[in-house]
Amino acid sequence: MTKIDIISGFLGSGKTTFIKKILEEKFLAEKVVLIENEFGQIGIDGILFKKSGIEIRELNSGCICCSLVGDFERTIQEVIEKFKPERIIIEPSGVGKLSEIIKACEAAKQGESLHINMLITVVDVLKLDIYLANFGEFFENQIKYAKTILLSKTQKASPEKVEKAVNTIQKINAKANIVTTPWEELSAEKILAIAEGDGTQALENEIKELLQRGMESEGCHCGHNHATEHHHDCCAHEHHHHDADEIFTVWGKETPRIFSVEELRKMLVSLENADAFGDVLRGKGILQVENGAWVQFDYVPEEIQMSEISPDYTGKVCIIGSQLNTNALEKLFFVTN
Ligand SMILES: [Zn+2]
Repeated sequence: MTKIDIISGFLGSGKTTFIKKILEEKFLAEKVVLIENEFGQIGIDGILFKKSGIEIRELNSGCICCSLVGDFERTIQEVIEKFKPERIIIEPSGVGKLSEIIKACEAAKQGESLHINMLITVVDVLKLDIYLANFGEFFENQIKYAKTILLSKTQKASPEKVEKAVNTIQKINAKANIVTTPWEELSAEKILAIAEGDGTQALENEIKELLQRGMESEGCHCGHNHATEHHHDCCAHEHHHHDADEIFTVWGKETPRIFSVEELRKMLVSLENADAFGDVLRGKGILQVENGAWVQFDYVPEEIQMSEISPDYTGKVCIIGSQLNTNALEKLFFVTN
Protein backbone atom coordinates (compact mmCIF):
# COMPACT_ATOMS: atom_id res chain seq x y z
CA MET A 1 0.00 0.00 0.00
CA THR A 2 1.40 3.37 -1.05
CA LYS A 3 0.25 6.49 0.76
CA ILE A 4 -0.35 9.60 -1.31
CA ASP A 5 0.14 12.95 0.34
CA ILE A 6 -0.83 16.07 -1.59
CA ILE A 7 0.65 19.32 -0.35
CA SER A 8 -0.71 22.28 -2.23
CA GLY A 9 -0.47 26.01 -1.81
CA PHE A 10 0.13 29.18 -3.78
CA LEU A 11 3.53 30.41 -4.87
CA GLY A 12 5.37 31.83 -1.90
CA SER A 13 3.07 30.20 0.65
CA GLY A 14 5.97 28.29 2.16
CA LYS A 15 4.86 24.96 0.75
CA THR A 16 8.34 23.94 -0.46
CA THR A 17 9.88 24.86 2.90
CA PHE A 18 7.26 22.75 4.62
CA ILE A 19 7.90 19.74 2.37
CA LYS A 20 11.63 20.06 3.09
CA LYS A 21 10.87 20.13 6.81
CA ILE A 22 8.83 16.93 6.79
CA LEU A 23 11.30 15.16 4.51
CA GLU A 24 14.26 16.05 6.72
CA GLU A 25 12.61 15.53 10.08
CA LYS A 26 10.46 12.55 9.33
CA PHE A 27 10.78 10.78 6.02
CA LEU A 28 14.53 10.28 5.51
CA ALA A 29 14.17 6.69 6.68
CA GLU A 30 11.14 5.99 4.49
CA LYS A 31 11.00 5.11 0.81
CA VAL A 32 9.49 8.30 -0.56
CA VAL A 33 8.93 9.65 -4.05
CA LEU A 34 8.30 13.34 -4.43
CA ILE A 35 6.43 14.42 -7.56
CA GLU A 36 6.84 18.12 -8.23
CA ASN A 37 4.83 20.14 -10.70
CA GLU A 38 6.72 23.34 -10.58
CA PHE A 39 6.81 25.27 -13.83
CA GLY A 40 8.68 28.45 -13.03
CA GLN A 41 9.13 27.73 -9.35
CA ILE A 42 12.25 26.65 -7.54
CA GLY A 43 11.55 23.25 -6.12
CA ILE A 44 13.30 20.92 -3.74
CA ASP A 45 16.93 20.40 -4.65
CA GLY A 46 17.36 16.71 -5.36
CA ILE A 47 21.04 16.80 -4.38
CA LEU A 48 20.01 17.40 -0.78
CA PHE A 49 18.43 13.99 -0.60
CA LYS A 50 20.88 12.02 -2.69
CA LYS A 51 21.94 9.66 0.07
CA SER A 52 18.43 9.11 1.41
CA GLY A 53 15.65 6.94 0.05
CA ILE A 54 13.93 9.97 -1.44
CA GLU A 55 13.39 10.05 -5.20
CA ILE A 56 12.27 13.17 -7.01
CA ARG A 57 10.27 13.38 -10.24
CA GLU A 58 9.57 16.68 -11.91
CA LEU A 59 6.74 17.49 -14.30
CA ASN A 60 7.47 20.94 -15.61
CA SER A 61 5.82 21.51 -18.96
CA GLY A 62 2.30 22.20 -17.76
CA CYS A 63 -0.17 21.66 -14.98
CA ILE A 64 -0.81 18.16 -13.55
CA CYS A 65 -4.46 18.93 -12.90
CA CYS A 66 -5.25 19.72 -16.55
CA SER A 67 -2.74 19.72 -19.46
CA LEU A 68 -0.46 17.07 -17.92
CA VAL A 69 -3.07 14.94 -16.23
CA GLY A 70 -2.22 11.88 -18.38
CA ASP A 71 1.53 12.24 -17.74
CA PHE A 72 0.81 12.65 -14.06
CA GLU A 73 -1.19 9.43 -13.80
CA ARG A 74 1.47 7.53 -15.74
CA THR A 75 4.22 8.94 -13.49
CA ILE A 76 2.41 7.69 -10.41
CA GLN A 77 2.08 4.22 -11.89
CA GLU A 78 5.70 4.17 -13.05
CA VAL A 79 7.19 5.16 -9.72
CA ILE A 80 5.08 2.57 -7.93
CA GLU A 81 6.27 -0.17 -10.24
CA LYS A 82 9.90 0.94 -10.11
CA PHE A 83 10.34 1.92 -6.45
CA LYS A 84 7.39 0.47 -4.57
CA PRO A 85 7.48 3.52 -2.30
CA GLU A 86 5.76 3.71 1.07
CA ARG A 87 4.73 7.24 0.26
CA ILE A 88 4.32 9.54 -2.70
CA ILE A 89 4.33 13.23 -1.89
CA ILE A 90 2.78 15.41 -4.57
CA GLU A 91 3.59 19.10 -4.76
CA PRO A 92 1.19 20.62 -7.29
CA SER A 93 1.84 23.99 -8.86
CA GLY A 94 0.30 27.00 -7.17
CA VAL A 95 -2.64 27.06 -9.57
CA GLY A 96 -3.41 23.35 -9.49
CA LYS A 97 -6.94 22.50 -8.44
CA LEU A 98 -6.82 20.11 -5.52
CA SER A 99 -10.11 18.45 -6.51
CA GLU A 100 -8.70 17.62 -9.97
CA ILE A 101 -5.44 16.29 -8.54
CA ILE A 102 -7.39 14.02 -6.18
CA LYS A 103 -9.38 12.77 -9.17
CA ALA A 104 -6.19 12.05 -11.13
CA CYS A 105 -4.79 10.08 -8.17
CA GLU A 106 -8.01 8.07 -7.99
CA ALA A 107 -7.70 7.38 -11.72
CA ALA A 108 -4.09 6.22 -11.28
CA LYS A 109 -5.30 3.66 -8.76
CA GLN A 110 -6.47 1.03 -11.23
CA GLY A 111 -4.65 -2.07 -10.11
CA GLU A 112 -2.21 -0.19 -7.89
CA SER A 113 -2.83 -0.15 -4.18
CA LEU A 114 -2.93 3.54 -3.40
CA HIS A 115 -4.41 5.35 -0.48
CA ILE A 116 -4.91 9.11 -0.42
CA ASN A 117 -3.56 10.00 2.98
CA MET A 118 -2.80 13.65 3.68
CA LEU A 119 -4.41 16.60 1.93
CA ILE A 120 -2.59 19.66 3.17
CA THR A 121 -2.87 23.21 1.83
CA VAL A 122 -0.40 25.84 2.96
CA VAL A 123 -2.02 29.28 3.13
CA ASP A 124 -0.15 32.55 3.65
CA VAL A 125 -2.23 34.31 6.32
CA LEU A 126 -1.11 37.74 5.09
CA LYS A 127 -2.26 37.09 1.52
CA LEU A 128 -5.48 35.15 2.15
CA ASP A 129 -7.90 38.00 1.39
CA ILE A 130 -6.02 39.26 -1.67
CA TYR A 131 -5.72 35.79 -3.16
CA LEU A 132 -9.37 34.98 -2.50
CA ALA A 133 -10.36 38.19 -4.29
CA ASN A 134 -8.02 37.68 -7.25
CA PHE A 135 -7.64 33.92 -7.69
CA GLY A 136 -10.86 32.79 -6.06
CA GLU A 137 -11.40 29.71 -8.21
CA PHE A 138 -8.03 27.96 -7.67
CA PHE A 139 -7.50 29.26 -4.23
CA GLU A 140 -10.92 28.35 -2.84
CA ASN A 141 -10.63 24.92 -4.39
CA GLN A 142 -7.32 24.30 -2.58
CA ILE A 143 -8.90 25.31 0.73
CA LYS A 144 -12.17 23.50 0.17
CA TYR A 145 -10.68 20.06 -0.56
CA ALA A 146 -7.91 20.12 2.06
CA LYS A 147 -8.16 18.11 5.25
CA THR A 148 -5.53 20.22 6.95
CA ILE A 149 -4.79 23.90 6.41
CA LEU A 150 -1.38 25.07 7.46
CA LEU A 151 -1.44 28.80 8.00
CA SER A 152 1.98 30.24 7.26
CA LYS A 153 3.49 33.53 8.46
CA THR A 154 1.17 33.69 11.49
CA GLN A 155 4.13 35.01 13.50
CA LYS A 156 4.05 38.11 11.28
CA ALA A 157 0.31 38.67 11.60
CA SER A 158 -1.68 40.23 14.42
CA PRO A 159 -3.80 37.82 16.52
CA GLU A 160 -6.91 39.53 15.08
CA LYS A 161 -5.73 38.86 11.54
CA VAL A 162 -5.17 35.18 12.36
CA GLU A 163 -8.62 34.89 13.96
CA LYS A 164 -10.23 36.53 10.94
CA ALA A 165 -8.38 34.22 8.57
CA VAL A 166 -9.58 31.17 10.51
CA ASN A 167 -13.18 32.41 10.23
CA THR A 168 -12.80 33.01 6.49
CA ILE A 169 -11.33 29.53 5.96
CA GLN A 170 -14.03 27.88 8.05
CA LYS A 171 -16.68 29.42 5.83
CA ILE A 172 -15.11 27.66 2.83
CA ASN A 173 -14.20 24.46 4.66
CA ALA A 174 -15.73 23.84 8.06
CA LYS A 175 -14.10 20.45 8.54
CA ALA A 176 -10.39 21.06 8.01
CA ASN A 177 -7.97 21.19 10.90
CA ILE A 178 -6.35 24.60 10.83
CA VAL A 179 -2.80 24.91 12.11
CA THR A 180 -2.39 28.45 13.44
CA THR A 181 0.76 28.02 15.49
CA PRO A 182 3.83 29.03 13.45
CA TRP A 183 4.73 25.62 12.08
CA GLU A 184 8.44 26.28 12.41
CA GLU A 185 7.79 25.89 16.16
CA LEU A 186 6.06 22.54 15.77
CA SER A 187 7.77 19.26 15.10
CA ALA A 188 7.00 17.57 11.79
CA GLU A 189 5.78 14.67 13.89
CA LYS A 190 3.13 16.80 15.60
CA ILE A 191 1.90 18.32 12.33
CA LEU A 192 1.74 14.94 10.63
CA ALA A 193 -0.17 13.45 13.57
CA ILE A 194 -2.87 16.04 12.92
CA ALA A 195 -2.77 15.71 9.13
CA GLU A 196 -2.84 11.92 9.15
CA GLY A 197 -5.29 11.48 11.97
CA ASP A 198 -8.21 13.45 13.16
CA GLY A 199 -6.70 16.00 15.47
CA THR A 200 -9.92 17.78 16.37
CA GLN A 201 -11.52 14.66 17.76
CA ALA A 202 -8.74 13.77 20.14
CA LEU A 203 -9.59 16.11 22.99
CA GLU A 204 -13.28 15.42 22.76
CA ASN A 205 -12.73 11.67 22.90
CA GLU A 206 -10.36 12.05 25.78
CA ILE A 207 -12.88 13.97 27.83
CA LYS A 208 -15.68 11.53 27.00
CA GLU A 209 -13.52 8.69 28.15
CA LEU A 210 -12.61 10.47 31.36
CA LEU A 211 -16.22 11.09 32.09
CA GLN A 212 -17.24 7.53 31.38
CA ARG A 213 -14.51 6.23 33.64
CA GLY A 214 -15.53 8.65 36.37
CA MET A 215 -19.12 7.48 36.22
CA GLU A 216 -18.23 3.84 36.36
CA SER A 217 -16.01 4.20 39.38
CA GLU A 218 -18.55 6.27 41.26
CA GLY A 219 -21.42 3.96 40.40
CA CYS A 220 -23.61 6.94 39.61
CA HIS A 221 -24.56 8.20 36.21
CA CYS A 222 -25.04 11.78 37.17
CA GLY A 223 -21.43 12.66 36.44
CA HIS A 224 -21.03 15.05 39.31
CA ASN A 225 -17.91 14.96 41.33
CA HIS A 226 -19.06 13.65 44.68
CA ALA A 227 -15.95 14.73 46.50
CA THR A 228 -16.76 18.39 45.96
CA GLU A 229 -20.49 17.87 45.75
CA HIS A 230 -22.73 20.88 45.82
CA HIS A 231 -25.57 19.50 43.70
CA HIS A 232 -26.44 16.82 46.17
CA ASP A 233 -29.97 16.20 45.02
CA CYS A 234 -28.86 15.17 41.54
CA CYS A 235 -28.61 11.49 42.37
CA ALA A 236 -32.13 11.33 43.75
CA HIS A 237 -33.46 11.53 40.20
CA GLU A 238 -34.14 8.33 38.35
CA HIS A 239 -31.75 8.60 35.46
CA HIS A 240 -29.67 5.52 35.96
CA HIS A 241 -30.76 3.87 32.77
CA HIS A 242 -29.86 6.65 30.40
CA ASP A 243 -26.78 6.57 28.25
CA ALA A 244 -24.21 9.23 28.83
CA ASP A 245 -25.00 10.70 25.41
CA GLU A 246 -28.59 11.39 26.35
CA ILE A 247 -27.71 13.30 29.46
CA PHE A 248 -24.50 15.04 28.55
CA THR A 249 -23.53 17.30 25.77
CA VAL A 250 -19.99 17.92 24.66
CA TRP A 251 -19.10 21.32 23.29
CA GLY A 252 -15.74 21.92 21.67
CA LYS A 253 -14.11 24.68 19.65
CA GLU A 254 -10.74 25.59 18.26
CA THR A 255 -9.29 29.04 18.56
CA PRO A 256 -6.02 30.77 17.71
CA ARG A 257 -6.75 33.45 20.33
CA ILE A 258 -4.05 34.37 22.84
CA PHE A 259 -5.45 34.55 26.38
CA SER A 260 -3.94 36.04 29.49
CA VAL A 261 -3.50 33.52 32.30
CA GLU A 262 -5.42 35.76 34.70
CA GLU A 263 -8.29 36.21 32.24
CA LEU A 264 -8.44 32.48 31.62
CA ARG A 265 -8.57 31.70 35.33
CA LYS A 266 -11.48 34.11 35.78
CA MET A 267 -13.28 32.60 32.80
CA LEU A 268 -12.91 29.12 34.25
CA VAL A 269 -14.15 30.26 37.65
CA SER A 270 -17.20 31.77 35.96
CA LEU A 271 -18.13 28.33 34.58
CA GLU A 272 -19.55 27.61 38.04
CA ASN A 273 -22.45 29.88 37.12
CA ALA A 274 -25.04 27.28 36.06
CA ASP A 275 -27.63 29.95 35.20
CA ALA A 276 -25.30 31.37 32.59
CA PHE A 277 -23.65 28.26 31.14
CA GLY A 278 -25.69 25.24 32.21
CA ASP A 279 -24.28 22.47 34.37
CA VAL A 280 -20.60 22.31 33.46
CA LEU A 281 -19.16 19.06 34.74
CA ARG A 282 -15.77 18.95 33.15
CA GLY A 283 -13.68 21.18 30.96
CA LYS A 284 -10.40 20.66 29.27
CA GLY A 285 -8.38 22.74 26.91
CA ILE A 286 -5.07 23.73 25.43
CA LEU A 287 -4.70 27.44 24.79
CA GLN A 288 -2.01 29.90 23.91
CA VAL A 289 -1.23 32.51 26.58
CA GLU A 290 1.09 35.51 26.66
CA ASN A 291 4.73 35.39 25.59
CA GLY A 292 4.35 32.42 23.28
CA ALA A 293 3.54 30.06 26.16
CA TRP A 294 0.79 27.43 26.13
CA VAL A 295 -1.26 26.05 28.99
CA GLN A 296 -3.41 23.03 29.43
CA PHE A 297 -6.34 23.47 31.79
CA ASP A 298 -8.51 20.96 33.57
CA TYR A 299 -11.77 22.05 35.08
CA VAL A 300 -14.13 20.31 37.44
CA PRO A 301 -16.47 22.38 39.61
CA GLU A 302 -14.46 24.14 42.32
CA GLU A 303 -11.21 22.76 41.02
CA ILE A 304 -9.12 24.36 38.31
CA GLN A 305 -5.73 23.13 37.25
CA MET A 306 -3.44 24.79 34.75
CA SER A 307 -0.04 23.65 33.63
CA GLU A 308 2.40 24.80 30.99
CA ILE A 309 2.77 22.59 27.92
CA SER A 310 4.52 22.69 24.55
CA PRO A 311 2.76 24.50 21.65
CA ASP A 312 -0.06 22.71 19.89
CA TYR A 313 -1.22 23.32 16.32
CA THR A 314 -4.01 25.61 17.50
CA GLY A 315 -5.86 26.32 20.71
CA LYS A 316 -8.84 24.19 21.65
CA VAL A 317 -11.36 23.97 24.41
CA CYS A 318 -13.84 21.26 25.29
CA ILE A 319 -16.66 21.46 27.81
CA ILE A 320 -18.94 18.67 28.92
CA GLY A 321 -22.10 19.08 30.92
CA SER A 322 -25.86 19.01 30.83
CA GLN A 323 -28.10 21.69 29.39
CA LEU A 324 -25.09 23.66 28.25
CA ASN A 325 -25.72 27.14 26.94
CA THR A 326 -23.43 26.88 23.96
CA ASN A 327 -24.01 30.49 22.90
CA ALA A 328 -22.78 31.70 26.26
CA LEU A 329 -19.79 29.36 26.05
CA GLU A 330 -18.93 30.67 22.58
CA LYS A 331 -19.00 34.22 23.92
CA LEU A 332 -16.96 33.32 26.99
CA PHE A 333 -14.17 31.76 24.93
CA PHE A 334 -14.39 34.35 22.12
CA VAL A 335 -15.17 31.78 19.45
CA THR A 336 -18.32 33.31 17.93
CA ASN A 337 -18.03 33.52 14.16
ZN1 LIG B 1 -4.31 22.51 -13.95
